[in-house]
This record gives sequence, structure tokens and C-alpha cells, in this order.
Amino acid sequence: MAESGKTLFEKVWEDHLVVEETPNTPAILYIDLHLIHEVTTPQAFQSLRDKGLSLRDPNKVLATMDHSTPTLPVKSIADLDIVAEKGPADQIRDMIRNCEEFGVELHGFDSDKRGIVHVMGPELGATQPGKTIVCGDSHTSTHGAFGALAFGIGTTEVGHVLASQCLLQRKPKTFAVNMDGSLRSGVSAKDIILKIIQKVGVDGGVGHVIEYRGSTAGVLSLEERMTICNMSIEAGARAGMFAPDDKTFNYLIDKPMSPKGPDWDQAMKRWSRLVTDEDVAFDKEVNIDIDQLSPMVTYGTNPGMAMEIDGVVPETNGDLGFKQSLNYMQIEAGKPLIGKDIDVVFIGSCTNSRISDLKDAAEILKDRKVSDGVKALVVPGSQAIKKEAESLGLDKIFESAGAEWREPGCSMCLGMNGDTVGNGKLAVSTSNRNFEGRQGKGARTILASPKTAAASAISGSVEDPRKYS
Ligand code: SF4
Repeated sequence: MAESGKTLFEKVWEDHLVVEETPNTPAILYIDLHLIHEVTTPQAFQSLRDKGLSLRDPNKVLATMDHSTPTLPVKSIADLDIVAEKGPADQIRDMIRNCEEFGVELHGFDSDKRGIVHVMGPELGATQPGKTIVCGDSHTSTHGAFGALAFGIGTTEVGHVLASQCLLQRKPKTFAVNMDGSLRSGVSAKDIILKIIQKVGVDGGVGHVIEYRGSTAGVLSLEERMTICNMSIEAGARAGMFAPDDKTFNYLIDKPMSPKGPDWDQAMKRWSRLVTDEDVAFDKEVNIDIDQLSPMVTYGTNPGMAMEIDGVVPETNGDLGFKQSLNYMQIEAGKPLIGKDIDVVFIGSCTNSRISDLKDAAEILKDRKVSDGVKALVVPGSQAIKKEAESLGLDKIFESAGAEWREPGCSMCLGMNGDTVGNGKLAVSTSNRNFEGRQGKGARTILASPKTAAASAISGSVEDPRKYS
């Protein structure tokens, strides 16, 4: 009997099955790459220490410092207490000590490769098609842009993977998001994913792995695919994936950790089979018309509360907490968002801190000024991006416009490293979560693309980027 076709996800899943799941027990999945950072690891390392365990394979673990790490310059670890509060500074010192003790490669302050964990992995070529990748951060889904099966895990699971290089998992279902058409001027990958989440809802992907498909998928760059996969978790999905193609292989070919010589040829053979077979039925499917897409912004306190920037805030979206959400945001139903005064603009995070994002923002900010009273922060995703941006003069464009240009890190994405929006202040942010207080106590967040964030910085209010395109 002929073998039935499989989806991309199913192929990667089956390649990594150590033990099949049963009705009573989850599957045991082998993990190829474990990315770690300073926030979700201290307890995991301590539990290994307590049990007298070592790492199963330190070569499959890659560490960085990003979440608690200040974005003001830290020349040496001795300076840390000057720029960081005690809690974050302790986490960073713990990370250094743990990585030394357990033999993990750490990209710390002295590394020119340090960056946000989901920016650094792809840049180094550690992220590769067909790999299983985990990290103690929800937005690990970013790595699915390369055809990897990548998802966030909890602190206890971080310990399990460090000790065993395996993970207990129930097999998710499959979900095809078919995207067709071309992006219009002023519209970007962030708008695609906000539209998808608006359409399917914040729980639309629960229990599923999304595969992004259709004519648009093939023309998007790897950076755009990363932005989309990054926010798959905001639709509730376990992970998001794009099938690897020539763009993927071209991106990876010269990366430091990519296979070389005959190993590259072998890898290409393995990677080229990582596509969904024809005539495979997905458990769930949705179509998105990209030709009709406009810049998107959020108006509420979850990423599904999104709207076209030139529309009006809806009267309801069916959520029980709709009114409460609008009250928190101090946003009125039935009114436009364009023209609403803002206090802060944040361009950064693992969703939108790559070089193409910074170029998008710089194109709009060039020879213009950030509006009086608006604080604008631009934070590159890694040291490599910082260096490239500075070689292109983007830092000068940002600074001449009146924006701050910082060191790499998670920064204002989560408000635990000294960078916060401010109590009651309204931010247009390129990050991925607009929950109450996500960007610091009392912060109000409107999610948007780098183009929309830059346009809003100039106007001092929510602005359509097509005005400046
Ligand atoms: S930028 Fe935000 S979402 Fe991304 S890794 Fe850092 S804290 Fe997590």
C-alpha cells in the first residue's frame, strides 16, 4: 500500500520521535537545539545541580543574554550594577556562572554575536530546516521560518531538555494559512500576521502547528517569514512553519554554524524533502487575501484586537473583556485611531529588530524629526545588526531624527531590563504582546509594523505609514 502524504510538520515530527505517544503518555521527542537565556534557566541549572546531573549534550545548547540585559552600554561585568537593577543583574551573573560550570557556549557582553535569542540563532546558522528547536520563551516559533519545528517551553522543561535532550509532547494538529497576493506599498509582514490573528482569533491556532503557504509565502524574505512565525503563538498555535526553499538555503549558506562542504550537500538533500506532499489535507485551513491588506494596528489588550489603520475601532469583537480592554487602553469604540496622541515609540524586539525592519523605519525617519514629547527608542536585535546598521548610517538617521539608538536586547518588549513605556503612557510598539502592563506597569501598547511606528513617531500620534511612503 502506498504511503500517505505528509505535511512539513509531520515529517519533522516523525524524524525526531524517540517514543510514540499513547492515549496515556505523550510522545518523547528528540531536541536538536536548545536556546537559553538568563531568565528561564537559573532554576533549571539549580535543579541539575541538586540532582547531580550534567548536560546530555552541551554542544546542542546555545546561550545568550537578552531579556534582563540593559540596552545602555555595559563595558564590563563590573559596570553591570551601574546600569541594571539588582534582580536582572543577578540573573545575568547567574547565567555567566551556570554556563561556565556546565560547559555551555555563552554569547555574553564581550561577544560580537550576542543578540536576542531568536535573532542570534538564525544569524549564526544554528537554526536550520528540519531541526527541533526549543527555548524558554514563547516566541521560539520564530525559527519555524526556516522549516524548523520550534516552540517555547517552561522552566521545568528547560531542565528536562538540558538533562536529556528530549521533551515530552502531545502531537499537535495541522493548520494551513494560505496567503495569496502581493504586499502593497506601506504594508509589511507585521501587518500580515496581525491580520491573520485578527481573523483566526487569539485561540484560533490552539493545539495546532501552522504552516504558512500560498503564493505570498515564496516571495517573502526570511526576515519577513521570521516576523510572521514569531507571532504564531499569539494566535494560540504551538508553532509556525514555512517550507524551506532557495531563499532559505541562500540565507544559510555562509552562516558560521551552517554545514560546510560535503555536509552542506547532504543537508541540502535532507532539507529539500521538507515540503508538504501534494493532496495532503490539513486539519484546519484559512485563506488570507494579501492584495487587499492595509497597515494594521491593535486597539485592545490582545494581539487579536487588531484593525486596519484607516478604519474605526469596532463596537465589539465578541470577547467578554472587550469593554474593559478599551477602558484600559483609553480608546473609544466607533472612533478612528489615526490622530490619537502617543507618548512612546519602540522599534525593536524579536519580531521587528532585524536589518530590514531598521531600514523600513529609517526610510521614513530620514530627514524628519520625532515629534516633541514623544520618546522614540530603536533597539537592534543583535550586535551583528547593530554593526550593519551603523555601517549603513542608520544610527545617524535615527539620532538626527531625535530617537535613541541602543545596545541589542529585548528592551521594551517586556519591561524587565530598565526600558519601560511608563505608567499610563501610550506606545506604538513593534513588539508582539499588548497585554496590560507587558511593557511596564500601567503601559498601554498599540502593536504595529516598523513603518507605522516610525510614521507615528513623526506625527506624535497614530499615523498611516503611507502618508510618508
Ligand atoms: S524580544 Fe520579547 S518576545 Fe522576543 S525573546 Fe525578548 S522578551 Fe521574548
